Amino acid sequence: MKIFKKIINFFLDLLFPIECVGCQKENIWLCEECFKKINLNLKNFCPFCGKPARMGCICQQCLTHSPLKNIFIVSFYNEKILKQAIHVFKYNNIRDLAKPLGKIIINFLYQSKLNFLFNDSYFLIPISLHRKRLFERGFNQSELLIREIAQKFKISILNNVLKRKRNTQSQTKLKEKERRKNIKNVFICLQPEIIKNKNIILFDDILTTGSTLKEAARALKKAGAKTITGLVLAKG
Ligand SMILES: [Zn+2]
Ligand SMILES: [Zn+2]
Repeated sequence: MKIFKKIINFFLDLLFPIECVGCQKENIWLCEECFKKINLNLKNFCPFCGKPARMGCICQQCLTHSPLKNIFIVSFYNEKILKQAIHVFKYNNIRDLAKPLGKIIINFLYQSKLNFLFNDSYFLIPISLHRKRLFERGFNQSELLIREIAQKFKISILNNVLKRKRNTQSQTKLKEKERRKNIKNVFICLQPEIIKNKNIILFDDILTTGSTLKEAARALKKAGAKTITGLVLAKG
């Protein structure tokens, strides 16, 4: 059995050689130099409308229809190396990229002094995939990333409480209005008794219009969550 596995790995390495997503240096998925090139978010803007707002804050106007209190954005999807890393992580199923990508999030939390905020009074929840997509991919990318954060800051992860009821059409090609319709009522909270009165950090890898995050937050709010803070790796 072991030999069989070795043979498979040998051919996998031939097909998908390990090389840096940024500079193609061999034997590493994201080298130190490329890692350093990824800029973290230092801008102060509202994640929904883009107007100036304090770091992580949603502007007064957008707050009126947001179930989330804050959304912290680690970096941007137009950071070339980050984009490539996320793509390879998700679509080429390279789980080893969870470590460096998790480190980017951790660095951001320290830099923004959020490490003081994110403590054991919070609970982490990843945006869930539909079971069909989970089966295809074999893992939930968001879940792998938050394991890194959870470990570092001693925050518990609440898995299997947020369920995606139906498999939605990919959001990438849809306009904002269509996105909202596509995602409406997609999430359900399976165990409201667990969520009740808790401070939740809801994590997603990419934020575009924010409709997915809002819809998931709505389900958690309905279940009795006390506060919901968003955390996103990259804004598109
Ligand atoms: Zn590199
Ligand atoms: Zn706004």
